[in-house]
Amino acid sequence: MKFFSNIKGLQKWRLLIQVIFILLSIWIGIDFYLFNHYLATDGQAVFYSRPPGVDAFLPISGFLSLIYFFKTGIIHPVHPAGFALLVSFLLMSFVFAKSFCSWVCVFGTLSEKLADFGEFIFKRKIKMPKVLDIIFRSLKYLLLAFIIFAFLGMSTPALKAFLDGDFNVICDVRMFNFFAEISNLTILIFWGLMLLSLVFRGFWCRYLCPLGGVMNIMGLLSPHKIKRNSESCINCKKCSEVCPAFIKVDSLKMVVSDECSSCMKCIDICPVKDTLTLKPIVSKKSIQKKWVMISVVFIFLAITAIAMLMGKWQNNVTKEDYLEIYQNSKELRYY
Ligand code: SF4
Ligand code: SF4
Repeated sequence: MKFFSNIKGLQKWRLLIQVIFILLSIWIGIDFYLFNHYLATDGQAVFYSRPPGVDAFLPISGFLSLIYFFKTGIIHPVHPAGFALLVSFLLMSFVFAKSFCSWVCVFGTLSEKLADFGEFIFKRKIKMPKVLDIIFRSLKYLLLAFIIFAFLGMSTPALKAFLDGDFNVICDVRMFNFFAEISNLTILIFWGLMLLSLVFRGFWCRYLCPLGGVMNIMGLLSPHKIKRNSESCINCKKCSEVCPAFIKVDSLKMVVSDECSSCMKCIDICPVKDTLTLKPIVSKKSIQKKWVMISVVFIFLAITAIAMLMGKWQNNVTKEDYLEIYQNSKELRYY
């Protein structure tokens, strides 16, 4: 088994898009560091404006903005980019099952590459025992149900008060400081998760990520599925062997799974032309796999552009507001 094997067909494009999103995240991280530096020096350092893309890392705030939008029809002005990005992630995961996870999410990419490296080291795919797999997979949904239950129970005024509040305004700064002044316990948990992701493919995504849980539901609802032609299939099982979600593609007529992330590895590896194809549930007409990539990129760019054109990308918090809130939040003065 070779490290970075199966980079064929659409996989090289998927890798390219994953790398672009990682570079974009690094760029956002550097900009956000400079913005934080301005706050930490009480406005003495050069001002760098806050990159709105950092909202992509605030899914809870994004979800609350989404609920607020459904209740009032208003896009809350504090983290509008978070709202737009969440809508784009949900939409792409609906159009082609859970495609956000295997094409865009930086944690998904890191987790995938760690697992590839793990397989390279251990020379095989290590599977979690079935009972533990079921128990751990339920954890994500329990956590998600708890979060949804807590959010949906909030009244509109309570929701608005939270979204307007200082805690929400600088939740990104709090997140930054959490990592800037990382505790030994957090480092231990971080390394533990890295190790588990090295041994068990997609440990974080499969068992813990609540955002992944939402994407799984969108994926299940997706109108497009991978279908197998059992007449032309030669039962080589390559599709099941390569599937990162451990789906037994070779024994299914249609992939209906909350874990399929439209990575297209199974279609790419199938040696018999037109045996595995992507099709709408209600039609026999196949869709070329490249449309998964086109849809992910198009949805991301289109929704981002619409948000910018509508003035719903940058937030309405001035640098003076940020400084004041920061200075009033003494617990943030870690560094
Ligand atoms: S079924 Fe195919 S597209 Fe879905 S996760 Fe498995 S390999 Fe990827
Ligand atoms: S890779 Fe293709 S031919 Fe082989 S088992 Fe899967 S569907 Fe059948």
